[in-house]
Parts: sequence; C-alpha cells; structure tokens
Amino acid sequence: MSFASDIKNELLRAESGSACCSRAELCGIICFSAGITYKNGKAALRVSTESEAAAKRFLNLIRRLFGGVDVLMGESISSGGITLFTIEIKGGADKILRELYLYDEVFDNHVSFRIRPEILECENCERAYLRGAFLGGGTATNPQKGYHLELYTHYHMLSEDTAALLTELGFPAKTTLRKSSHIIYLKGGDVIADFLASIGAFNAMMELTNIKIEKETNNDFNRANNCDIANTDKAFGAAIKQIQDIEKIKKNGKYDMLPDQLKEAAKLRLMHKELPLEALGKLFSPPLSKSGLSHRFKKIAEIAKDI
Ligand SMILES: [Zn+2]
Repeated sequence: MSFASDIKNELLRAESGSACCSRAELCGIICFSAGITYKNGKAALRVSTESEAAAKRFLNLIRRLFGGVDVLMGESISSGGITLFTIEIKGGADKILRELYLYDEVFDNHVSFRIRPEILECENCERAYLRGAFLGGGTATNPQKGYHLELYTHYHMLSEDTAALLTELGFPAKTTLRKSSHIIYLKGGDVIADFLASIGAFNAMMELTNIKIEKETNNDFNRANNCDIANTDKAFGAAIKQIQDIEKIKKNGKYDMLPDQLKEAAKLRLMHKELPLEALGKLFSPPLSKSGLSHRFKKIAEIAKDI
C-alpha cells in the first residue's frame, strides 16, 4: 500500500473532536473532493474518491452532523481500472452547504469552494479542516523516495486560501499549476512530519521520521567512509612520492651525503612504506611531529628535484 493510503487509513480512525471540528473536517473533504450539480436551482452534492477511507470518513461525519440526509453510496471502476467510491447526497445538500458556509451569497448564491473564517471556529478547527482536505485531495510521496506532500484542487481561490492557512500554521506551502489542477505542496521531511502529526496521522509521522533518521545515518556513514578513503589515498600517494625521491637520491650516489636528520627520515620511510606521517613520526626518538617530518621530506624532495 502507498504511503498516502497509509495516512488516509490512519485518519479514518482519528478523533474527530467537537462538533465545530467535525464540521471543519467535513468542509475540507467536500472542498477537495466534491462536485456540485444544480437541478431546478437546487444543489446536489457528490463526493467521488479513490480512497475508501476518505469515503467512509465522509459518510461518518455526514451521519454524525446531519443524521437525516438522504445518502447514496456506490462503487465503480474507472476507465483506468481504478476503484472509485462515490457518495451522493440527494436531498438536504443545500442545508449542508449552507451550514459549511460554502454558499457565496454575493456571487449569485452559488456554491463557492473557499475557506471562510466562520468554519474555523475553535483553535483545533484549522487542523481538522486540513485533515479533511488531505482525505479529499491529498497525496504524499513514499519517504524512501523523497519528501513531498500535496493537495490538489480545480479551484484557484481554494488553493490560495489553503496555502495561506498552511503558512499561517507554520507549514511553508507553495502552489503550482499542473494541467488543470492547482497544487498546494509541502517539501522537506521535518515540515511534512509536523504536518502529519498536526492532522492526527501520528503513525505515518513516526514512519517518515524513522526513515529519515535511517537515511541520514547511512549518508553520514557513507560520507565519513568516503572521507577516510580519500585521506588514506592521499597519505599513500605522498608516501610513494617520498620513496621515489629517496630511491632517486640513492641511485645517484647522494644518499650518504644527506644530513643525518634527513637520512634518518629516509631510512624509517623505507622501513615503513605504508605508514602515514603521523605514525611514522612516532618512531623517531624523540618522536617527531607530523609537520616536522613533512618538513624533512620536503627537503628530500628538493634535493631529488635538483639531481
Ligand atoms: Zn473546532
């Protein structure tokens, strides 16, 4: 199962809170997944989703808040072979839309999907609304592959309202257009983990956090490992150069003419070809610092160069 459906299945079981929060969540689901049709001036409401969890949550909320409405639920297979869950509200859609502040009385009394301030009644309503929005139109990349979470809608103003709400809550959201959809998206493991926790998907948050820690630990290990290899290669390359210099001096009969200090360094280098400078310095008596020894090999290199 995908990470997005894991989140939605978890949200199906989330606490819906007080009536105002349930209403805000229902409003989020409707805004992000409902279609409205008008017949004789009356609106009919139809929620259609690929997520069974979202459909069930919608049904639970409708029944809890508007017990008496006439609901029809169905399942169909789309042309792409995807199962779609559809819930139709036959009678009473007007009342629901009005109570969710989705009628725009200025604009010809038509339904307008936006976030009205009235729907965000208590301090938890904002998170409840976003939970609904994710259930209705959200998806998230598997954290093994990357950190990306998005909400999609066909309504431009709704995308602006939602991005503003997310940003206000501390989730830096961006918007973009993909085909005819407006996308509101979040990036970054920490931001997405916080978002998941705030809408009540704690298991998904833990899953993402664990994957993130695992990935970072592996990266740190690889970085340290690569660094070690690079340092070893560098040290080994320097040792080879020192040996070549000494061999060249020997071949030209100049070895015995080297000052004692340089001869001592050359002798120990030939005896311990693989040792890094620091370790080689410890074999001197008294021990020699890395820079002190490096200085001696520089002198040897100069002599070899002049031959
Ligand atoms: Zn509330």
